[in-house]
Amino acid sequence: MKAHDGMYIGGQWRPARGPDTIAVVNPADEQVIAHVPAGTADDVDDAVRAARGALPGWAATPPAERAARIAALRDVLVARADEIAETVTAELGSPLQLSQTVHAGVPVLVAGSYAELAASYSFEEKAGNSTVLLEPVGVVGAITPWNYPLHQVVAKVAPALAAGCTVVLKPAEDTPLTAQLFAEAVDEAGLPAGVFNLVTGLGPVAGQALAAHEDVDLVSFTGSTAIGRQIGATAGGAVKRVALELGGKSANVILPSADLAKAVKVGIANVMSNSGQTCSAWTRMLVHKDQYDEAVALARAAVAKYVPGERIGPLVSAKQQQRVRGYIEKGIAEGARLVAGGPEAPLETGYYVSPTVFADVTPEMTIAQEEIFGPVVSLIKYEDEDDALRIANGTVYGLAGAVWAADEAEAVAFARRMDTGQVDINGGRFNPLAPFGGYKQSGVGRELGAHGLSEYLQTKSLQF
Ligand code: ADP
Repeated sequence: MKAHDGMYIGGQWRPARGPDTIAVVNPADEQVIAHVPAGTADDVDDAVRAARGALPGWAATPPAERAARIAALRDVLVARADEIAETVTAELGSPLQLSQTVHAGVPVLVAGSYAELAASYSFEEKAGNSTVLLEPVGVVGAITPWNYPLHQVVAKVAPALAAGCTVVLKPAEDTPLTAQLFAEAVDEAGLPAGVFNLVTGLGPVAGQALAAHEDVDLVSFTGSTAIGRQIGATAGGAVKRVALELGGKSANVILPSADLAKAVKVGIANVMSNSGQTCSAWTRMLVHKDQYDEAVALARAAVAKYVPGERIGPLVSAKQQQRVRGYIEKGIAEGARLVAGGPEAPLETGYYVSPTVFADVTPEMTIAQEEIFGPVVSLIKYEDEDDALRIANGTVYGLAGAVWAADEAEAVAFARRMDTGQVDINGGRFNPLAPFGGYKQSGVGRELGAHGLSEYLQTKSLQF
């Protein structure tokens, strides 16, 4: 696989400051496909300096021109969609079709939405005798995970650029090649030098240096709650802005009036997509006690279609595979009933995990409380609506969820009572303009749409 052996800083590929590299592994066949440089604090410092230097010019660029550059970036992502999809498949392991439709496709929608928003957003408001200016926060340090290698990058970089901020990106060590492709796209789109900079590297080294850098004004992080907590503490200590998109344990609530077969089928597809490596996945399926046995049978039938190596890819790494298999073992040990799948690896090569369905899961079990980040779904029985709500809200997370009912208004009434940032009603479609982010320990701040743009703005009020 093609890889750059340097960092993209100040509009060019520069040699890394240190000699260390990171091996990129294809999780489907466990082969090393490339090496990228492991950045140090010195590389981060160079990148932040470049971003700081480019800030005044970019912040002063009229929004319509910023919009035109973001539109150009979207066009490059469209033109290079095949290469992006192949790269994501090579380093994440996702089936090519998923890489094409989701991993390459969604970033085009998101970049397009910010090209439009940059042009139409009102960067000035009136409030009584004041004019309120919405100004860029400054230099953004973006730290992204591997589960959606390009989407996570675009969901931070596009709004930051729309707002007039400049960016240093530290992508996940498992998927740096997609991030390098993105840097090429930025370059091809003609963004001014230093507006976007890329430093590949390890989390505790390059990520830590970026999060702690005193000349970064806002840290935008997506990843585990454990690291998010650390980054939030560091940012708090430095009194700098922080946006955190963390874990989830979302509930798929199937009310008795719903189309049970459809709700179960879509619910299983939601968890199995991307091998369960989605923070907003509906990993707890809540079913009324009278429909429970039928739902279990439907779930078993639905999951059978996800054949490892065909419709469902591997997990990203051996570490993740071990972790998820550990959770499956824990589910069995705590008394949940295995309906499909199990801890044994389904294929000899590749970091695959069997698509797994657990029944008789009680709300307090570990598999019903902790984020597993794999193709594992838990069916939980509820007595009545209040019981369903108590279970749905009964975790430390609140990122997403789903409600199904015959009547949309009935589903909406339930959704209003959920402590979570996003709810799909009867299988609602993805919307790149819908704010995405968490209640409770799922995070701080929102991504996507106008709410995602406002994260990168600060206000200045002029009184007349
Ligand atoms: P995951 O468990 O999904 O890999 P992490 O939270 O470990 O999630 O990683 C998400 C991102 O955070 C990655 O880019 C990773 O390199 C980075 N990261 C990990 N540890 C740190 C840290 N101590 N400081 C800053 N960034 C980190």
